[in-house]
Amino acid sequence: MPERKPLIAGNWKMFKTGEEAIATAKKLVENVGNVTDVDVMIAPPFTALSQVAPEVDKTSVGLSAQNMHWEKNGAFTGEISSDMLIAAGCQYVILGHSERRQLFQETDEQINQKIHTAIHAGLKPVFCVGETEDERNENKTFSVLDKQIEIGLKDLPVEQVKEVIIAYEPVWAIGTGKTATDDQAQEVHAYLRKRIQELYDADTASVIRILYGGSVKPKNIKGLMAMNDIDGALVGGASLDADQFSEIVQYQ
Ligand code: PEP
Repeated sequence: MPERKPLIAGNWKMFKTGEEAIATAKKLVENVGNVTDVDVMIAPPFTALSQVAPEVDKTSVGLSAQNMHWEKNGAFTGEISSDMLIAAGCQYVILGHSERRQLFQETDEQINQKIHTAIHAGLKPVFCVGETEDERNENKTFSVLDKQIEIGLKDLPVEQVKEVIIAYEPVWAIGTGKTATDDQAQEVHAYLRKRIQELYDADTASVIRILYGGSVKPKNIKGLMAMNDIDGALVGGASLDADQFSEIVQYQ
């Protein structure tokens, strides 16, 4: 079995001013700034990135953005580029979150362009996929994921696919308190790993990290992390509180 280092990632969404973000980051660094057995990352809003960066610098806590544009620069009012994120201190970027797909009509093709740009810039993409409740009820989970994965990773060389972190986030479990059961999540993670093997090769499938996201809390992380194909979590609501998020990081 290859060693896949767990990653616990926090998505702060549109919460926290710069000052609030600094206070949460300081607390988090106090709690888990020295952990070595788990990778940790937080994704504050764009406006707080530069302020949080010095707080987490030289600690175990990595910095991520929640989105970016695929072009290097240009007349794209309101958008942010990969170079800007790197200059602000980011190592990661979350791409294709379901809120971006649903509320801002992001397409699989745009997400694919963003993944290419992120990797070229040296950012680790956290690539979100997942089905809606209706799609699950209509037994379309796997076909929806197939399309998201095939288009999202299109034309990436296999060595770059290995750098992508996939986050399986069933849309019906995000912010709803309805977590997928450990077995439901494991079934989908195993399916995704099998698809990566079919599309690329066994080595890529065995090293790629697949996170689970959807109402992850201190009380359910342990069960999820005990599953063979779950390599970490993308946490929304519970990441806003440094103590709760630290408990999730220290699930072992
Ligand atoms: C998310 O936003 O990616 C998420 C999983 O949110 P929550 O943990 O609040 O369900």
